[in-house]
Amino acid sequence: MISLEEARTRINRDLIVLPIVDVPITAAREMVLAETVTASEAIPPFANTAMDGYAVRAVDTRGATKTSPKVLAVSATVPAGGVAPRALESGEAMRIMTGAPMPEGADAVVMVELTRPAGFDVMILAEVPPGNHVRPAGDDIRPGTEVFHPGTLLTPGHLGVLASIGRETVKVYRRPRVGVMSTGDELVEGPQPLQPGQIRDSNRLTLLSLVAEAGCHPVDLGLIRDDERAIRTALDRAVEQTDAVITSGGVSMGDYDLIKAILSDLGDFNWMQVAIKPAKPLAFGVMTGTPVFGLPGNPVSSMVSFELFARPALRRMMGRLDAERPHLWALAEDGLRREPDGKTHFLRVVVTQRGDGAWRVRSAGGQGSHHLLAMASANGLAVLPDGDGVEPGGSVRVMYLG
Ligand code: AMP
Ligand code: MG
Repeated sequence: MISLEEARTRINRDLIVLPIVDVPITAAREMVLAETVTASEAIPPFANTAMDGYAVRAVDTRGATKTSPKVLAVSATVPAGGVAPRALESGEAMRIMTGAPMPEGADAVVMVELTRPAGFDVMILAEVPPGNHVRPAGDDIRPGTEVFHPGTLLTPGHLGVLASIGRETVKVYRRPRVGVMSTGDELVEGPQPLQPGQIRDSNRLTLLSLVAEAGCHPVDLGLIRDDERAIRTALDRAVEQTDAVITSGGVSMGDYDLIKAILSDLGDFNWMQVAIKPAKPLAFGVMTGTPVFGLPGNPVSSMVSFELFARPALRRMMGRLDAERPHLWALAEDGLRREPDGKTHFLRVVVTQRGDGAWRVRSAGGQGSHHLLAMASANGLAVLPDGDGVEPGGSVRVMYLG
């Protein structure tokens, strides 16, 4: 057996970050920036009002109160998208709407709530300082500012900034196309009654969904028989059309566990027995430049294996700096027991946050590698180093799956 760290190091050694591509900003959500973005324009582009109200000269409001208002002549209305017809003179106010440019000569805005209309005039009910409710040009972004750097994950807010500075396309790391295939003669698809010995393929849908959730494009490569020719053909095709391939099944010690044999023939390849439970066996190799992850077939094992090996690798390939799931420390109120066996155990747990903000975990149910139901309700994997586990009330490190 090798350690988890060693297995991950072997995978990382062979990974390449995918090529940089130009994409329209409308398609850039959750992609990783591969350039420094510099703003060529100021945001906001011109000084404008943050409030609906009246543009004024601050000096003209001096001494104004509710009981002794200042009266100013209203000389124009400036809507958002419009401009003042002329400069503001002393003793005047202009009606102005949020986002409209400040008229020349005006240096403050009195919000409408602090005014009262009076025919062609307006009563100003409060004194305001210069700059009141004015958003100067470049207040958010000055021209020449480096707004984003390589490695930035593009979230909705980032896309808004790109749109506001007039970018149409942006350089990002390509999103990997990740193929998923299931292997096993016992597997069938669909609702028809099961024949003796058959089970329904569940791993493919789960893994395709995990791939999508990791931010990659899932590609369904179907269900492949435990037949050497069929698997070879499927893998040959798969590596042509994808950036990474994930298989499940066929990496253990059974007579029909062909994936490991085939991978060792076809590529630069590692078959590993990793000191973890579940998901001890793992095959990893690179076929014509495409990484292939041979995950174990047991449904929980395939998911845990995906989380520990495939997900961080795929995210590195797409330039994600947050390749890893976050870890947190939680209180195991009922304890989490295990037997010493030389392995690190990943127990399926439900993580909740108490009123005081502390994290707490409990077992999600059956801890066998076939107990998919418990895995489905888990939102964390408690990391138990070799030993007896955690006493009731002890604390435990948890990989948070969200
Ligand atoms: P294997 O890794 O091929 O030895 O399979 C280990 C266990 O996982 C066996 O009980 C298989 O029937 C089961 N299994 C393998 N592939 C799948 C799958 N795609 N969906 C559900 N169970 C599977
Ligand atoms: Mg099998």
